[in-house]
Amino acid sequence: MKKFLSLVIDILILIVIMTSATIALKGQKKPEEGTSENKIKIVTTIFPEYDFAKHIVGDKGEVSLLIKPGVETHNFEPTAQDIIDINNSDLLITIGEELSPWVKDLSKVLSKDINIVNLSEGIILIDIEEFEEKYGLEDEASHEAQDHHLSHDEHIWLNLDNANIMIDNITNKLCDLDKENALYYTQNATNYKNEINALKGEFEKLFKENQITLVFGGEFSYAYFVEEFGINFKTVYNNCGEGEDPSIIKVKSIIDYINDNDIRVVFYPELSNGSVAKMISEQTKAEAEILYSVHNGTVDGENPDTYVSLMEKNYDNILKSINK
Ligand SMILES: [Zn+2]
Repeated sequence: MKKFLSLVIDILILIVIMTSATIALKGQKKPEEGTSENKIKIVTTIFPEYDFAKHIVGDKGEVSLLIKPGVETHNFEPTAQDIIDINNSDLLITIGEELSPWVKDLSKVLSKDINIVNLSEGIILIDIEEFEEKYGLEDEASHEAQDHHLSHDEHIWLNLDNANIMIDNITNKLCDLDKENALYYTQNATNYKNEINALKGEFEKLFKENQITLVFGGEFSYAYFVEEFGINFKTVYNNCGEGEDPSIIKVKSIIDYINDNDIRVVFYPELSNGSVAKMISEQTKAEAEILYSVHNGTVDGENPDTYVSLMEKNYDNILKSINK
């Protein structure tokens, strides 16, 4: 945090310079109809925010993603360039100060009040300690790590109902900021929620009709997902992000569980080398497969990821765990 605050003065000076430059430029040039200068500028940090905003705003706005694909999203702190981008935007999308503590200091470094929407508003957050207690996941490693972690689980988007709430939060704010296009935003939001809800129906059917235990051999970010569908699960890691290595006893107990219960798949998240899951796979008949945590995704190219496309891949990979 000290590093962050020491940036403040540099950035403030920079912003004053930039603002004066912008004022000077504005005197000379008026943006034309339909140019990008007229479009609503939205800044996001994590992929689900980006993907939801992109689907809702359509061609009426420009959405940027501060954390580039493939980059670690935990413990994010904005760079000087990020602050400039946020300062030049119309709307910043976050998952709230509780889950993104860097947002608290933001007002100190911005040269103006900007619109911020908190996507976790209206979502019931999972208390990490309570979750660990409920599923008997506590061990010494998790207590040691407790100090460094948030008290609530940040991976709210892995519950599909929460995704609906996040979309509504963005839509309400956009309709407020740009009343003229409110109907357009609302329709886009409804279309995307319909896709998400159809997928939720598929997941419900899958977990209802099959006895599935998900075994996680990688960083664990799926608390909201397993709670949404009441999924039986086993995990070697308790949390996500700055991961402490699981104990040998824990790994051994997972290997035994897989062997005793004829489990077909051991999951690990994207952006992880999956070393523990692959090691477990070598000791058992279970295949190591990815279960997307959707922290991040590709935004360019012919087939950019979407929240729905990654969750559909999760569906396909979970299908592989069904005993036939
Ligand atoms: Zn995470």
